[in-house]
Amino acid sequence: VDEFRNPVEARRLGEHLARRMALPELQSRRPVRIMEVCGGHTHTIFRYGLEALLPEGIELIHGPGCPVCVLPPERIDDCLTLAEQHDVILTTFGDAMRVPGSRGSLLQARARGADIRTVYSPLDALQVARDNPDRKVVFFALGFETTMPGTAITLQQAVEEGIANFYLFCHHVTIVPILKALLDDPFMQVDAFIGPGHVSMVIGMTPYTFIADQYRKPVVVAGFEPLDILQSIVMVLEQLREGRTEVENQYIRVVSRDGNRQALQAVADVFALRARSSWRGLGEIERSGVGLKPAYAAFDAERLLVAPSVRRAEPVDCRCSEVLKGQLHPRQCPLFGRACTPEHPRGALMVSSEGACAACHQYQGRG
Ligand code: SF4
Repeated sequence: VDEFRNPVEARRLGEHLARRMALPELQSRRPVRIMEVCGGHTHTIFRYGLEALLPEGIELIHGPGCPVCVLPPERIDDCLTLAEQHDVILTTFGDAMRVPGSRGSLLQARARGADIRTVYSPLDALQVARDNPDRKVVFFALGFETTMPGTAITLQQAVEEGIANFYLFCHHVTIVPILKALLDDPFMQVDAFIGPGHVSMVIGMTPYTFIADQYRKPVVVAGFEPLDILQSIVMVLEQLREGRTEVENQYIRVVSRDGNRQALQAVADVFALRARSSWRGLGEIERSGVGLKPAYAAFDAERLLVAPSVRRAEPVDCRCSEVLKGQLHPRQCPLFGRACTPEHPRGALMVSSEGACAACHQYQGRG
């Protein structure tokens, strides 16, 4: 990946951006506000200090594409309820362990004795189920379209093997409805998007055409190295300069126009859209998440809950919502680096290394 981290080339791209921003057709558009949707992009931007290379007049908005950051507290509460059942082993990814619910985090529950195990993939969770036939093994599945195929294929595997003690607690969410919700938000001011590389590897580029066609905003799907992101900003500026709004692909080494058909087929076999899903900091959004299709109901951990937890108001001093919408820089939250740190996160944006607040704290300090 060294060729995509070349500092000389990065500076050259920064100078190119400065020359572009000096052109009259772009000067009149200042500030150009570009949202990077994906948490992986946010992490790269802070890790490599890319904002320092950008000329005046370009603002990056750190969007909602970190799946851990948008996990609503009530889903963590449901996981706690599941994990408190004596015959349940709850499994999930390490990032989810520290997300605060209204009764604490999964990590805290584990410290109190709940059997909660971190896994690297859903297949690891399935192995836990094979190894513990007398326990119910629940996999807390989360993430955007990037991780959905892995969950779907694991469930198909469980069906094929007849593993009856494996359950999914599903909180997979989809990228397009959240982008639409942001675009429809009257307080949201975005001129263009850097599209998520990993999600697009699965879904392709066609799902974003509504952004270009109906909302008249450029989208450039980008890779995760510093030069990928700088090049994608150059491509955004070219579109704006030429008055074009298109979906373009900077990440051609990985992303194709139609995505991964096999992965999409597995997702379509297992999951169905829910009427609405809850997002931390953003509220409920219609048809923005998926649950298991009726054919897989026997594996649905929702049925192990007597009643799902209700949505609770988020703490009033927590400003995650405004950061997610680009209305506030992480540093402008009064809790940043004081009451909210990566060691003791108050809001979810401080939990994952892909959260805007955690990335800012890690690479720029508390300031
Ligand atoms: Fe949320 Fe903490 Fe960031 Fe404030 S500093 S916006 S509470 S994650």
